[in-house]
Amino acid sequence: AKEQGKNQYCLFESYMSTKLLEKYQLEEDLRHALDRNEFILYYQPQIDIMTGKMVGVEALIRWFHPNKGCISPAKFIPLAEETGLIVPIGEWVIRTACKQSTAWRKKGFSDVRVSVNLSAKQFQQPDFVEMIMKIIKETGMKPELLDLEITESLAMLDIELTKKILLKLRNMNINISLDDFGTGYSSLNYLKQLPINTVKIDKTFVDNITVDASQQTIAKAVIDLSHNMALQVIAEGVETWDQFSFLKFQKCDKVQGYLFSRPLSLEEIENILEQDKGF
Ligand code: C2E
Ligand code: CA
Ligand code: CA
Ligand code: CA
Repeated sequence: AKEQGKNQYCLFESYMSTKLLEKYQLEEDLRHALDRNEFILYYQPQIDIMTGKMVGVEALIRWFHPNKGCISPAKFIPLAEETGLIVPIGEWVIRTACKQSTAWRKKGFSDVRVSVNLSAKQFQQPDFVEMIMKIIKETGMKPELLDLEITESLAMLDIELTKKILLKLRNMNINISLDDFGTGYSSLNYLKQLPINTVKIDKTFVDNITVDASQQTIAKAVIDLSHNMALQVIAEGVETWDQFSFLKFQKCDKVQGYLFSRPLSLEEIENILEQDKGF
């Protein structure tokens, strides 16, 4: 039994070191990914619930690793946050999205808003607002077409600092969305003091919206309360027509999800923009 215990320990140890090695390797690769142009943005349509038109897109980063293929942001964003690499990577995302938006405007596509995800580390950089200003200037981005998504937990880290930064962004006519709403502990009432424009109902709520009465009550309450506070509401992760009908009935403003489209490559999203142009 003692021998077996020792073997298991060794196995565990080698398993751990393999994991650590993998992580270290991935971290090394991540350090070079920007220089090697391995990142790309995908765009997921956001649909106006009443008109059915695409009114915006969420930019979602993809990492095409030379030998591992496409690595999910769910896997490398946490690592990028841990190592601080999220700061340059996040800046690349904002710049790329802004450049793209300007290119679309020049091609005459109707004004679609571009949403970009922010991490806490980026937001906490002392020159964060200046960085955004600089990118807007450099790229010719129309600030009212830019939407920055912050999560509830990011917003709550230091609510005074958050307020200060968001006020500056609002003065620049940039939109702010509260992402993954409902997954944290804060109430909308508390978030009332933040200058945000949109609340994004998290997928976990949308998932059970047609089967679970309490989820329905929560979703309805979030929508009504948001509207009372003059905020727009978008639901993410909408996959079925039942979910869509419920959200439409409750006067949710926008939807995003596989029911309409997965995140698309630049070429694919431009095809949609091209079609929309005809109307
Ligand atoms: P998120 O911000 O909540 O983005 C929504 C995620 O849900 C995306 O996953 C999207 O592809 C997926 N999704 C959209 N509709 C549906 C649906 O109907 N069903 C299902 N099952 N999934 C749906 P993705 O692209 O893998 O991104 C995962 C997370 O990685 C994002 O969650 C976001 O937190 C983070 N992320 C992605 N891009 C960036 C970025 O540029 N910067 C930062 N800081 N984080 C990013
Ligand atoms: Ca998001
Ligand atoms: Ca989200
Ligand atoms: Ca989410």
